[in-house]
Amino acid sequence: MNCPKCGTELPLDASYCPKCGAPRSEIERLLNDAARAAKRAVDAGVAVVDRAAKELEPTFNKAAAKVRPAIDDVARAVKPVADKTVKTAKEVADKTVAIVKPAVAKAAETTEHVARKVRERVKKSG
Ligand SMILES: [Zn+2]
Repeated sequence: MNCPKCGTELPLDASYCPKCGAPRSEIERLLNDAARAAKRAVDAGVAVVDRAAKELEPTFNKAAAKVRPAIDDVARAVKPVADKTVKTAKEVADKTVAIVKPAVAKAAETTEHVARKVRERVKKSG
């Protein structure tokens, strides 16, 4: 602990400040005063921040209210594109299926044909 009057570091058992002679009781009172003042300052700071937040809230709400229609506009503008994208994706998928389906069917048919031939050959040799 330092003497709040002169800043000298006080020995633990000192009853007086070795430099300025301030009594420990007065030093402790001064330190308590300083602590109380610091707490008041902190409390005042918290109060100021609280008040600022309360005062700013309507401003934030106003800003949000102003931004909201813009967001709605963007959403409205984007929606048809999004819908079209989904439609296009579905069309592409449908087209892909239409193109692939005969090929897959033919492949399955060929596989079946080959399998039948293999079975016949196995039967003959067996
Ligand atoms: Zn002192």
